[in-house]
Amino acid sequence: MPEFPTDGQAASRLPSIKSLDKGGLRTLMERLGQPAYRARQVAAWLYGTAPAVPLTSFEQMTDLPRSLRERLAATCTLDAPQILRRQDSRDGSRKYLVQLAGGNAVETVAIPAGHDRLTVCFSTQAGCALGCVFCATGQAGLVRSLGAGEMVDQLRVASEDFGLRVTNAVAMGQGEPFANYNAVLGALRLLNDERLGGIGARRLTVSTCGLLDGIRRFAEEPEQFTLAVSLHSAVQATRDRLMPGLASQPLTELREELAYYAASSGRRPSLEYLLIDGVNDTPEELEALIGFARGQGALNYHVNLIVLNKTAGGRLEPSPPERLQAFANSLLQARVNATIRASRGADIQAACGQLAEVV
Ligand code: SAH
Ligand code: SF4
Repeated sequence: MPEFPTDGQAASRLPSIKSLDKGGLRTLMERLGQPAYRARQVAAWLYGTAPAVPLTSFEQMTDLPRSLRERLAATCTLDAPQILRRQDSRDGSRKYLVQLAGGNAVETVAIPAGHDRLTVCFSTQAGCALGCVFCATGQAGLVRSLGAGEMVDQLRVASEDFGLRVTNAVAMGQGEPFANYNAVLGALRLLNDERLGGIGARRLTVSTCGLLDGIRRFAEEPEQFTLAVSLHSAVQATRDRLMPGLASQPLTELREELAYYAASSGRRPSLEYLLIDGVNDTPEELEALIGFARGQGALNYHVNLIVLNKTAGGRLEPSPPERLQAFANSLLQARVNATIRASRGADIQAACGQLAEVV
């Protein structure tokens, strides 16, 4: 938890209350000499049903004593997320550039389905330190990690804009969730709390590039959150080239961690596999992928085949459609479940890996 002053400091140096999760709010209330239920009241204002008017000041928290509202205002800032830009895709999805505290901004994508489903793909960091060569975010480097509240705010922005409740959320925007583990878990718990976000754990998905210690910790969490792992190649040398930030984390260990995750959570992670022309779509790569996806025993992982989206300045090309289809067929023949993920929002650069704007 950041150092929260309890005696009033220069306003410009105050931390944002959005950097706190439920535990952080409880600690803050304790430090302010308040009973524990005050933390729940504040969480309900921040992350519960959206109030009719945007929440921009602690003054609006009318069920808190005036003295507490004043102390909160002297202790931390309350930054309301602002939409700096909205782009609408022909397919109905919308991409937002959301302004955060301190002048940073991240991208959030909302994808409606049917009349009442809304999936939000949220960012966990501004930028990303892992530098995957196919990814626009990775090319920008890391700017900063987001607080739990800043992640939840991205869902609120989309929900208010669509006038719909968010039914599913995926940590698949900018950033590597397990490089910001505590805040991401804090956000998932705010979203999962039935008095706050009210989204079932299975409808909350984390996509990781495969950080081993993060997978281990995630396996041991009590909730049934969903895990997706970006594999992109089951051949070590190819993966090292595509995802240089992971070169120290061998595929053999990744496979073991996934088996551990499956055994301890009772849930199977899915594998994301981006098809890149001439790089990871060869017969040898296919064979390695089948071996990896077979998991251990009868446990096969589901493979999501993704069409590479071209990024500005990127020299990699997507595999041609017939090779994509052949890849999917071969996986199915090998009894590995595979789907081809339709990309949405590509016309507004909102598709996977195209999220580049960090301010
Ligand atoms: N850091 C996490 C989550 C964010 S990236 C991860 O890597 O899983 C979200 C997804 O977009 C990942 O599966 C990533 O591999 C994919 N992606 C990255 N660049 C892409 C591109 N150019 N085209 C399509 N998907 C891409
Ligand atoms: Fe980071 Fe994921 Fe992009 Fe890799 S694919 S650079 S881990 S956001």
